[in-house]
Amino acid sequence: MTIVKVLLPLAVADAYSYLLPDDVYADVGDFVQVPLGSRKITGVVWINDGSDDGFLKNTSKSKLKSIISRVDMKPLPLDLMKFINWVCDYYISPKGMGLRLVMNVPEAIGPVQHIDAVKLGSGIVERATKARTKVLDIAEVGETMRKTELAKLADVSVGVVDGLVKMGALSTAQMPKFAKFKTPKTDHNLASLADDQNSAASQICEAIAAKKFECFLLDGVTGSGKTEVYFAAIAKVMEQGKQALVLLPEIALTVDFLQRFENRFGVEPAPWHSGLAKGARERVWRAVASGQAKIVIGARSALFLPFDNLGLVVVDEEHDGAYKQDSGVMYHARDMAVVKANMCGFPLVLASATPSLESFLNAKNGRYTHLTLDKRHGGATMPQVHAVDLRDHALESQKFLSEPLIKAMQAKLALGEQSLLFLNRRGYAPLTLCRACGHRFACPQCDAWLVEHRYNNRLMCHHCGISVQKPHNCPQCKAEDKLVACGPGVERIFEEAEAQFPEAKIELLSSDIQMNVAALQKRLNSIANGDCDIIIGTQMIAKGHHFPHLTLVGVVDADLGLENGDPRAGERTYQLLNQVAGRAGREQKQGSVLLQTYAPQSPVMRAMIAQDRDAFYKAEAHGRELAGLPPFGRLAALIVSSKQQKKAFDFARAMISEAPKITGVVILGPAPAPMGFIRGRHRVRILARAPKGFKMQDWLKSGMLTLKPTGDLKVQVDTDPYSFF
Ligand code: ADP
Ligand code: ZN
Repeated sequence: MTIVKVLLPLAVADAYSYLLPDDVYADVGDFVQVPLGSRKITGVVWINDGSDDGFLKNTSKSKLKSIISRVDMKPLPLDLMKFINWVCDYYISPKGMGLRLVMNVPEAIGPVQHIDAVKLGSGIVERATKARTKVLDIAEVGETMRKTELAKLADVSVGVVDGLVKMGALSTAQMPKFAKFKTPKTDHNLASLADDQNSAASQICEAIAAKKFECFLLDGVTGSGKTEVYFAAIAKVMEQGKQALVLLPEIALTVDFLQRFENRFGVEPAPWHSGLAKGARERVWRAVASGQAKIVIGARSALFLPFDNLGLVVVDEEHDGAYKQDSGVMYHARDMAVVKANMCGFPLVLASATPSLESFLNAKNGRYTHLTLDKRHGGATMPQVHAVDLRDHALESQKFLSEPLIKAMQAKLALGEQSLLFLNRRGYAPLTLCRACGHRFACPQCDAWLVEHRYNNRLMCHHCGISVQKPHNCPQCKAEDKLVACGPGVERIFEEAEAQFPEAKIELLSSDIQMNVAALQKRLNSIANGDCDIIIGTQMIAKGHHFPHLTLVGVVDADLGLENGDPRAGERTYQLLNQVAGRAGREQKQGSVLLQTYAPQSPVMRAMIAQDRDAFYKAEAHGRELAGLPPFGRLAALIVSSKQQKKAFDFARAMISEAPKITGVVILGPAPAPMGFIRGRHRVRILARAPKGFKMQDWLKSGMLTLKPTGDLKVQVDTDPYSFF
């Protein structure tokens, strides 16, 4: 008997040893069932280095449990196992949690399933009724089909089909549980690329042909046609018979984009996101593993699908914060996509109109190939951006739209063009307070105010999701009708716009409005067709959409993202504002953008107005360099949490005392984390800052992380945190 190591998809640091019985054949990568305590659980053979009977003394070997059986399915690709090892080392996460990212589609872990079906048989039909003939005509085409499907197509009852099976005119058969993905047609709807698009596409295609790692930063203004460029690269990969993965921030994974893919390639891509039903997930997972699904369009977790033969990854909107996972293995999908491409030796495309400072500097210093598209496609011009200084144009009490913005919207209404009002805040009002006693409604288990939602008349916590009915009386002083909404959310802007423009057709789009995919698509289509005058939305509407009639964008509170004081806040706000601004004037008509702000002189607003991104990035980079912050230095955060704040603080201090002192490595904290109290747990943060090449992981493991949390204490490691403070 051999001893092999099996990794389980649990919070375990390493693979466990099991005996491999002689009658079970399993090797590295195979899925196997093993006993764990009284449970039976599926894991993956991680190491099989030939250790055998002689390796362990009989006594210790007798304690080892045996593998129960091998699961009849394709083994995990070796490069994916290597990738998991790398990711978990980098983020100091238990390896089992890395495997869990791959295996979190339990339905797909097992033999391929077949379902009962019927096909044309050799028996004779006794009485060829109209219904029977109809069924047989369809069956004659030769496809194996479910009984119900056949009956539906023939518009008869299942009983008719059953009858034909009984007389042998149809025979029973088996068919795979899931339909195959159709192969995209590379030349279905070729766009003729503009010169700059062509030059970018051919550079990427060269790297694909050379089958080598190269990272491209596809840096093009909004509407310059970046998508068409990477579609050309996808076509090239397909010609090589390889698979491609396009990552999008979850929020941009709308039907819009899938539709666009279908228009270009004639078939649907394989989608991957959190909204997929179980069956759909299983179908994609298996088709990716078998190599049958060629193109996957997915959210960050698609990086952990078991690709059979991946040849290209595209990370669209690469700057987006949604690529960072905020629990479990806290990986950054863009960074890990670079690692994966490098490891497997294929090219990678990072696309954005406002790259992350990290990628921008990598392109400037030559580590990435910089591809630029500086004009909009088809002669459309960039929008003109102006600030509305709210110090000069004071808002009326309880109103949030300034006079210049209202006038501009009126002018657009008169012209029959669309306006978009953007506010990155869901709900009606971010805070409710009692005018009599000053009581503020806060979440009992988080550091957050409760947000009023008028559509369901509830006060909700956006961090933990709890909600309460909005009361009439103040819970503290019992005063009646004294509760006031403070500040705006999109629902409130909708209300104000309705009162201001009673004749206009207004659409509100926010993730709170529960809609199925088809309904959302219908609304987006009708907006694109011009069947709406004013669109009001959160960041859901900022990304990816192309509304030809939209020529004015009003940003209700341009200062919103700057409030929290994080050193990355400027970059982030600029990226979001630029993205929203990029919705205006994407076709022939000139677009304009009005930013309502109290700080028109801030670097972000100045850069937006002057449309001088690179000067802004240069200044940001300079500030980061002075502070030793990424990408000029490295950061790691340790979040210690407990139900008792003191316990968390005490443990954090004890951890710090274990850290080896090294010049140039600075420990900040412990301090309450940015969300210091969430779901009833206090969170305390330690931040370590070190020079660029410093081996942060080794230093953490040999010092602070040697202290093991007990009781309700938890320690979460965040390598390269997305928020700096
Ligand atoms: P980006 O992703 O850079 O913001 P898109 O790829 O969405 O830009 O392109 C903007 C618009 O221009 C889209 O409507 C797209 O269909 C159109 N477009 C881009 N390139 C071409 C092309 N080569 N031929 C025809 N239309 C194009
Ligand atoms: Zn809460």
